[in-house]
Amino acid sequence: MSSPVTDPHALRLLRSMMGGDLPVISPRIGYNVTYPRVEEVAGVTADRAQDLLKDLTEQGYLNRNFSTMVYRCPFDNTTSLRPRLICPVCQSEEIERVPLIEHMTCGHVDQEKNFVKGELLQCPNCGKTLNQIGVDYRRPGHAYYCPTCGEYSPSPIEKWSCNAENHVFEMEEAVAEKLYTYTLNEAKRDEVSKVFGFIEPVREAYMRCGYEAETFQMVTGKSGVAHLVDVYAKKGDVKPVTSIARILTDKGIKPEEVLKHYAITLDVEVTKPILIASPQLDKASEAYMDQLKLKVIEGSNFKTIIEEFEAFVCEQ
Ligand SMILES: [Zn+2]
Ligand SMILES: [Zn+2]
Ligand SMILES: [Zn+2]
Repeated sequence: MSSPVTDPHALRLLRSMMGGDLPVISPRIGYNVTYPRVEEVAGVTADRAQDLLKDLTEQGYLNRNFSTMVYRCPFDNTTSLRPRLICPVCQSEEIERVPLIEHMTCGHVDQEKNFVKGELLQCPNCGKTLNQIGVDYRRPGHAYYCPTCGEYSPSPIEKWSCNAENHVFEMEEAVAEKLYTYTLNEAKRDEVSKVFGFIEPVREAYMRCGYEAETFQMVTGKSGVAHLVDVYAKKGDVKPVTSIARILTDKGIKPEEVLKHYAITLDVEVTKPILIASPQLDKASEAYMDQLKLKVIEGSNFKTIIEEFEAFVCEQ
């Protein structure tokens, strides 16, 4: 696969992130984990949205930050789970957590509601009225009461269940997965901006002249070094015409950039190396370009640049 930023879906997503419409991409956890904003903005399916985020992160366009953990049913992968508390005596799931009272006078322990007699508390065992907490009765805490078998348990058996198919399993059997939020890697902002502003139209100009052209292409030179060029284009099979376009959009482009362009040009041996410098090279750089007889297209008018560029790459 070519660089993800040539994928129109990825471009749509990055454009929204750069424009501030979608500064952070967050997961939504329902029966499954989805990224609805990505689906909407990039125009992709839920599965493709996940792949897109993964690819863009691997390629450095997005940063990811830990968001939360999800646990999946080990049988069907759903993320919609609930705890299932079970009576350890009879296995019934119909148990409830109740407050307890201990009648210290006779030692009877029961749930609070069995002591309530109108306004008073009365022991269901010995029939005496309870007077003062800490003196003749106390509250020892809570227990789980099972109406099926009538037993109290300090703690129930804890299992988990999925809401999709009611599969029952231990929490440790659930499949844990880290979820992330995603933001634009600001270090890539310029590179991506170039795609929108210049690179894609440059690639299109090559294609109008009959080239096959790829953006952000790694081109290996005779030295064995791979150079990342903005656009690499090739036409014909027998004696192919090859071209690279490097695009610089900084103010006052310095000689180092020209020398780098020259070095790449020598190494990759292309027929038509082109440097697009917008708005222009500085004086020293211009002198280098003349000396080295390298093609440079300068200007601040984007339309004019593309016209001049197209005229140059189309001529045989
Ligand atoms: Zn029970
Ligand atoms: Zn009692
Ligand atoms: Zn399940």
